Amino acid sequence: MENPKRDVLTTPTILRVALDTPLRRLFDYLPQRDSLITAEPGMRVRVPFGRQRLVGVVHSLATSSELPPEKLKTVLEVLDATPVVDAQVMELLDWAAQYYHHPLGPVMAAALPKLAREGAAARAMTERWFATESGLAAFESLKRAPRQRELLEALRVPEGVTSEALSAAFSDWRTPMRALVARGFASSAEDSDAPPPEATGANLLRGSGPELSEEQATAVAAIDAAHARFAPFLLYGITGSGKTEVYLHTVERALRRSQRALVLVPEIGLTPQLVGRFRERFAAPVAVLHSALSDTERLAAWRQCVSGEARIVLGTRSAVFAPIKDLGLIIVDEEHDASFKQHESGFRYSARDLAILRAQRAGAPVVLGSATPSLETLQNVLSGKFARLSLPRRAGQALPPRAAVVDLRAHAVRAGIATPAVEAMQRHLADDGQVLVYINRRGYSPTLACTACGWIAPCRDCDARLTVHLGASRLRCHHCGADAPLPEKCPQCGYAVKHVGQGTERVEETLTRLFPDMPIARLDRDVVRRRGDMEAVVSRIASGEARILVGTQMVTKGHDFPNVTLVVVLNADQGLFSTDFRAPERVAQTIIQVAGRAGRGTKPGEVLIQTEYPDHPLLLSLLNEGYDGFARAALAERAAANWPPFAHVVALRASATALAPAIEFLHNARQLAGNVRDLKLLGPAPAAMAKRAARYHAQLLIESRDRAPLHRMLAEWLPRVEALKTPRDLRWSLDVDPLELF
Ligand code: ADP
Ligand code: ZN
Ligand code: ZN
Repeated sequence: MENPKRDVLTTPTILRVALDTPLRRLFDYLPQRDSLITAEPGMRVRVPFGRQRLVGVVHSLATSSELPPEKLKTVLEVLDATPVVDAQVMELLDWAAQYYHHPLGPVMAAALPKLAREGAAARAMTERWFATESGLAAFESLKRAPRQRELLEALRVPEGVTSEALSAAFSDWRTPMRALVARGFASSAEDSDAPPPEATGANLLRGSGPELSEEQATAVAAIDAAHARFAPFLLYGITGSGKTEVYLHTVERALRRSQRALVLVPEIGLTPQLVGRFRERFAAPVAVLHSALSDTERLAAWRQCVSGEARIVLGTRSAVFAPIKDLGLIIVDEEHDASFKQHESGFRYSARDLAILRAQRAGAPVVLGSATPSLETLQNVLSGKFARLSLPRRAGQALPPRAAVVDLRAHAVRAGIATPAVEAMQRHLADDGQVLVYINRRGYSPTLACTACGWIAPCRDCDARLTVHLGASRLRCHHCGADAPLPEKCPQCGYAVKHVGQGTERVEETLTRLFPDMPIARLDRDVVRRRGDMEAVVSRIASGEARILVGTQMVTKGHDFPNVTLVVVLNADQGLFSTDFRAPERVAQTIIQVAGRAGRGTKPGEVLIQTEYPDHPLLLSLLNEGYDGFARAALAERAAANWPPFAHVVALRASATALAPAIEFLHNARQLAGNVRDLKLLGPAPAAMAKRAARYHAQLLIESRDRAPLHRMLAEWLPRVEALKTPRDLRWSLDVDPLELF
């Protein structure tokens, strides 16, 4: 049969392939001469690369190459029949590679699950077994091979039998099957799993939600009216105001138009409760993509996207790159959450910012939801770029909680808990309420100190102290993971040691002593180690079995505990005096998010914030005017200091086994930048915690009022920085729009 695309092959088409290498370029290959499948942009190919064979993605086609034709190698295999990176996602990746100044190959790799990067098929294949004509005719002759006969008997259906079904019915069927195949009595075929029929109309929904409030209905209508065009919204609603209900309704509208929806949530926000709410509401298939999936599970979820089976894609950060046809709506829940920014390694991107861009490419509305929006997003509302939708009241009968500060200097404090807080706990517990105690430190105590000589247990590899974990009887570093036995005596002078300060473990112990009859649950990273641990703790609270919950940040996200009536914030002060300009924003967000856990049911809630600085302007504005008041003050401060969102910042970071080479590298990089107008270079300077995990960290900041000159400079400067000679142990990275400044 003639391949209709054959003539494309006869012209000297060059495939420009993105490979996962650190080189900032694409690689040219020739298509296979006799292949029936023509490689198109977005398809994966296997190619020779030096002595290796790599899987890459065809980025584009070209008519000529910079390499002479005889140097060009030929593609070994085309892995896909249709593109797995569609044109829209390809544009997004192109843009991201330019904006974050990261090589396109690794950027492309971030869009694919690991097994797909290694060449796994984009469609799940089902192996089917059939009886052949001669097998059916020879049935009688198998009398002396009962297992083969039994198996052949099972194959006597025209549509054949899948391997899965055979495994369910027979213990070891592969051996007799091999014999049948060898005799020509049975054969197999593979077919790809066809997507199930489209769920629309009647079979779209499984359940229904509560009737929408007026504000919710207004929000849903506004978002729905913007369908089929790019329109960014901030859905600003306090915790429990019914944002998720708005998401569910707008997703339903998109699905009814035969479109698909992408819902991004923070790492910690993708709880079984949330997944459950989507699966209970929609009969349409939901693909769930997050970092705790095994490679096989992730591949399966990605295949659901590629085939179009998934109508809703619910995922964390990297799901922003999922292949989704007819994308009609993007939702970013808890848009302020730092986990949307990949900042640890490799390709440092903001999934929230890319979601906005993807919506623009798709011509679809994008909804950023939060009770505590980032200052960037609020500024976008103020400047008229985003439309604001508000849900000012709690859904149902719930009332907003009353909040007050407890002055730690004015009251007796026992193991970190002041008398008024203890009394409030007594009141709420006697009244059948549940109590949530928040402290942002896990472990028993943050410091182990000698009672005689002043020794303090330090981490050998970090500028940090080791945290006492009494239950496990270990000393651990929360920055590098160092782990050592807990000494009973001072290793320096042999005197007794003491535990200084509070962590979740110690607070739990204190509360057990104060309220011996009250079951207590703890939620932090030490308790939640495996899948299912989190659900176990959450269900102890949700069922009412546990009366007091002690926890870190983990308690602030996603859970709905209707019977929690009191929230106590033990240490609001941490972060009030940080050098990072974003620290106050994070403190305010955490306080509001934790406070939002109080009184979500019908009983009114109360929030107590313990502090040694009850007159701190941030706490005052937060308490008196809420998050809005705080945000106004904080934005004014940022504008005055020329910090984002009123300027753009890029961090060049370096680390080495000593501080001097890191600083020297950054210094040389700064020299290369020369005298740049419109830009401000700050540093190089050691990081606030310079030594971390046995490496010394430093950074150089580049600041600019406008984006354009900044990116022009980076594009010109980075290749020269890359060409700098560096010591072998030096590592460096670029972070565009950094969220944390060390
Ligand atoms: P958020 O996402 O803003 O925290 P949710 O959508 O989870 O809020 O709603 C909080 C609670 O209120 C949930 O239990 C939800 O089922 C309920 N709820 C939401 N909207 C309504 C409504 N219009 N009427 C009654 N209950 C509602
Ligand atoms: Zn000592
Ligand atoms: Zn350490």
